[in-house]
Amino acid sequence: MVINWYPGHMAKARRLIEENIKIIDVVIELLDARIPLSSSNPMISKMIGQKPSVLVLNKADLADTAVLEKWIAYYRQQGRIVIALDSKGGKGIKSMVTEVRKLAAPKLEHWQKRGLKTRSVRTMILGIPNVGKSTLINKLSRSSVARTADKPGETKGKQWVRIANQLDLLDTPGVLWPKLENQICAYRLAATGAISDTVFDMQDVVTKLISELSVHYPQKLCDRYKLDMLSGTPQDIIEHIGRKRGCIVSGNLIDLEKTYKLILKEYREGKIGEISLDRVEDFPIKGKI
Ligand code: GDP
Repeated sequence: MVINWYPGHMAKARRLIEENIKIIDVVIELLDARIPLSSSNPMISKMIGQKPSVLVLNKADLADTAVLEKWIAYYRQQGRIVIALDSKGGKGIKSMVTEVRKLAAPKLEHWQKRGLKTRSVRTMILGIPNVGKSTLINKLSRSSVARTADKPGETKGKQWVRIANQLDLLDTPGVLWPKLENQICAYRLAATGAISDTVFDMQDVVTKLISELSVHYPQKLCDRYKLDMLSGTPQDIIEHIGRKRGCIVSGNLIDLEKTYKLILKEYREGKIGEISLDRVEDFPIKGKI
């Protein structure tokens, strides 16, 4: 697996976030609901310090509900405020804004007591590439009361979107770098589309994906590809799928490249079903976070 992030990128991403975070009151941390561990960034708590934050498990519509419930319980147990969200469809947006407002309430009260009634609470979205940051910002902007003006001087001309009464969202998200050192996380990031297709070995990713799906979601795999049963190695299953879906080249050979692409595309679009890859009970991974 080739790694497309190097220390220079990370340092720049970190610097940008640390610059913006100074003026933020509440942080919205976006994770991929299908892979909450793999899509998390180990440096985030250092970057946001003591700021209150809401953990948002986005793309909840693509995740396995039972596994997602366990993740929600897991994070709540750790004292986190966590929300499941489908930022494309909009489900969960209201609850998310409510949670941000709750976290902001003590600040607003404090300002009010000091007579600073006009100050609004500022929030910002952080997450790795492709986790849905822009989709969420667009959704919130469209439903927002108004675009607020620049706040020059104070905020160096940044753009804010008013998403609720006295609640402003910075319209530029903070881009975190993905966790590529851990091979299991890296594969899961690739499978869900968080890492560009040009930097990983597709055969490797699809083989691992099929191997996990055949353990945790055999019925979904059989139903999608009309297989009577799953037999043989992951490679055998891939070939079986290729044949079923007509990915054939001359000589009646299976077009493996086409089959890999097809499986990845259908997995990412949720066509194989609601599927989670990270599980709370994934102890070998948990140990490495
Ligand atoms: P960003 O790189 O974090 O800004 O991610 P984008 O907002 O560009 O989203 C990446 C892809 O994920 C796009 O194809 C979105 O349509 C899709 N996406 C974002 N949020 C959701 C969601 O909640 N559910 C689903 N199914 N797709 C989503």
